[in-house]
Amino acid sequence: MPHVLVLNASYEPLGVVPMRRALVLVLNKKAVCLEESGVFMHSATCAVPAPSVVRLTRFVRVPFRGPVPLTRRALFARDGGRCVYCGGVATSVDHVVPRSRGGKHSWDNVVAACRRCNHVKADRHLAEIGWRMRHQPAPPSGLAWRIIGTGHRDPRWMPYLQPYGAEHALARIDGISA
Ligand SMILES: [Zn+2]
Repeated sequence: MPHVLVLNASYEPLGVVPMRRALVLVLNKKAVCLEESGVFMHSATCAVPAPSVVRLTRFVRVPFRGPVPLTRRALFARDGGRCVYCGGVATSVDHVVPRSRGGKHSWDNVVAACRRCNHVKADRHLAEIGWRMRHQPAPPSGLAWRIIGTGHRDPRWMPYLQPYGAEHALARIDGISA
């Protein structure tokens, strides 16, 4: 089942919902369709164009949002799908300061890594093996990252996500299947 990008009345990206839920929002006039997906949803009596992007008709006040959730997909997008140590294709998640030595599972201590580097590094500190990272890990910012972190994607969402920090995120996520 395809998913639909939901925007606030202010066009801020709010989240991703299953198609059926988005259709109910549109049919109840709680949202309007901004982009159609090109497919039709068939009921007993009619066919309705399925949305790809909807915008709420009334502004919803969103409570304070904490940091972008640390998911594997969002992490790989932040690091461009590349190993931060050798630049090879990343297939695993590494804790820079190993967990066994007190390292946290947080954006500034978690990086994408290839399996080989991850294995060689094991539970050592970078200083112990003389390695450097290609970039310093930091939490991503921007509402688009919350959408990217869900793993659902649609090229029609791009123009709506770009103003919210997606331009480099989505450029880097291209080609990542993780
Ligand atoms: Zn590597």
